[in-house]
Amino acid sequence: MKISNDCVVYLHYTLTDETGKELESSRGEAPMSYLHGHSNIIPGLEEALADKAAGDRVTVTVPPEKGYGIVQPGLVQRVAIKYLQGAKTWRPGMIAMVQTEQGPRQVQVVKVGRFMADVDLNHPMAGKTLTFDVEIVSVRAGDASEVAHGHVHEEGAHAH
Ligand code: ZN
Repeated sequence: MKISNDCVVYLHYTLTDETGKELESSRGEAPMSYLHGHSNIIPGLEEALADKAAGDRVTVTVPPEKGYGIVQPGLVQRVAIKYLQGAKTWRPGMIAMVQTEQGPRQVQVVKVGRFMADVDLNHPMAGKTLTFDVEIVSVRAGDASEVAHGHVHEEGAHAH
């Protein structure tokens, strides 16, 4: 079947930046899955996958505007180091998780003091032009609860 809204898509991908450096890859692991048409993935990639089918290979280059957004100035904030999650010691350039009113968020550590750190709230991939090399593994119709929730339900994937 072709990919359209409310389909669950399983795919392998390799993500590279402008310089060709590999940032992420699902190859060698389980395929990634997402529910099409529910903004589970960045808009530029979702658009490129519409109407494709299992077995198709798609390479798409996504500008920041259709990816993780442009880098916004003034998003550096000072927070207590105890609120940074994901490592014991912190150095500039590392990615930390912080809890915000909108839920957990990835931030990039800019500067580390004794008790406080400066973190950049821009998404770590903001401002990057991203190239996805995608291989569609399989496509199925989403079931009613998946469509209602707006995400894929897999055995043991999440509890709610
Ligand atoms: Zn759900």
